[in-house]
Amino acid sequence: MPANILLVEDEPAIQELIAANLARAGHHVVRAADAETAQRIVRDALPDLVLLDWMLPGMSGVDFARRLRAEERTRDIPIIMLTARGEEQDKVAGLETGADDYITKPFSPRELVARIKAVLRRRAPQVTEDAVELGGLRLDPVTHRVTAGEQSLALGPTEFRLLHFLMTHPERVHSRAQLLDQVWGDHVFVEERTVDVHIRRLRGALEAGGHDRLIQTVRGSGYRFSAQVDPADAVR
Ligand code: CA
Repeated sequence: MPANILLVEDEPAIQELIAANLARAGHHVVRAADAETAQRIVRDALPDLVLLDWMLPGMSGVDFARRLRAEERTRDIPIIMLTARGEEQDKVAGLETGADDYITKPFSPRELVARIKAVLRRRAPQVTEDAVELGGLRLDPVTHRVTAGEQSLALGPTEFRLLHFLMTHPERVHSRAQLLDQVWGDHVFVEERTVDVHIRRLRGALEAGGHDRLIQTVRGSGYRFSAQVDPADAVR
């Protein structure tokens, strides 16, 4: 499944090489030559992963990683640091900033693509092609199908992505703004009411088998996918 990758690298030749390889692997790449530009890009839309060069003009890659980790909205973005340094203590410093992985230049394109896949699988399962099974539902990103037992459910593309995100992040409350960021990739121009509309459609698609109950409204906060029985329902 293609991931939206933000590549922050100041050396044009390396930037070009990495971007070409990621595109060949099927990813969408947005490029920045410095952390300040990268910050503006992230402000508009959250990437699925950041490939971040350590040594940048202006704000360093390490400082940018720290900033991403310090803010609630950007805290969970997977980060892979790129560096020419091979020193063990630099590696430790890089991981201490909150990077998920660390690749020393020069690296092979194959290695980079494999590392990205591993980090996404661990940190952003909604952008991988792994099937998810939960609460009696099975969602398969490869065939783009959702099934409840033998029954195949018809979902629109947005409902599919919404369900995929919710199923890979269950038992947690997601605000409308967070869902816009994660599922729509746009928290600025899309209205929060849009989320409610698609949640309603998703529930409608899940209703036949009673699976609409898995999508819970948390008053004043947002929505949650829960495969556990709601205690309030159990009492009644
Ligand atoms: Ca550099």
